[in-house]
Amino acid sequence: MTSRDWIADREAVFDRDAFTCQQCGDDEPATLHPYPIGDVPLEDAVHESALVTVCEVCFNALEPSLAAASIESDALFHRVRDATRLQGETISDLAAFASLSTSLPATLESARDDGTEVDSDDAVSEYQHTRRDVLLAIALVDARLEELAALESAVDSDVRPSLLAFTETATALQSTLIEAVELSETVVSALERCHGCFAPLEEETCSTCGLEARETADWHDIGGSIAFDQLFATINETLQDAAETTDTLTDRTTALAAQLTT
Ligand SMILES: [Zn+2]
Ligand SMILES: [Zn+2]
Repeated sequence: MTSRDWIADREAVFDRDAFTCQQCGDDEPATLHPYPIGDVPLEDAVHESALVTVCEVCFNALEPSLAAASIESDALFHRVRDATRLQGETISDLAAFASLSTSLPATLESARDDGTEVDSDDAVSEYQHTRRDVLLAIALVDARLEELAALESAVDSDVRPSLLAFTETATALQSTLIEAVELSETVVSALERCHGCFAPLEEETCSTCGLEARETADWHDIGGSIAFDQLFATINETLQDAAETTDTLTDRTTALAAQLTT
């Protein structure tokens, strides 16, 4: 990621986000940056659904700083704790996102039946908002883990295996979280909407924002319609996997903390 300005209607993005940093909640930051999320193509104009507003501090935190040649135990412990805390926040964002995604088929259907479009508009904007939150949180944890991985050679050799065990588990947890996000987005693809901007999908690639639809072929039942129950069950299983990996991560963090504070 570079600090290049994304070609997009920045003001529209800032306005939508109420000129507030979507990471730390600062509502009067001196500088605002649009930050790209999801895997929308970044050439040409970037659709506003793929951008979030962040302050200068959070924008810089999204860029891993890999310069450190050595690190004190205290500073390392602080970083590990920070990464763990941020990953914990990501998991709560993800739980909210999964629950919103899985309620969308019913919400859209009942809105269609009784013409209450306002309710479904609210549900859609909440889906989009929560998706941006979770993708931003994942990006922030990625940057922290990249920094920790780069510190491996800078730490004492007796601490190194514990640090390695921590970063490996945290990285595995990131993959599970991303999998849960993608499965939740698949619900929206199955509704023939773009999982980023929510425009109706006519082809594989969204003509509004350029995002590729999630593959839905695995979720068709014999009759050819979407087996939402099965998809929802898989989302729940993935969230349970994430909870189990979080337990392992807590053990790893405790082991590392014990070594760093003796
Ligand atoms: Zn911020
Ligand atoms: Zn789109």
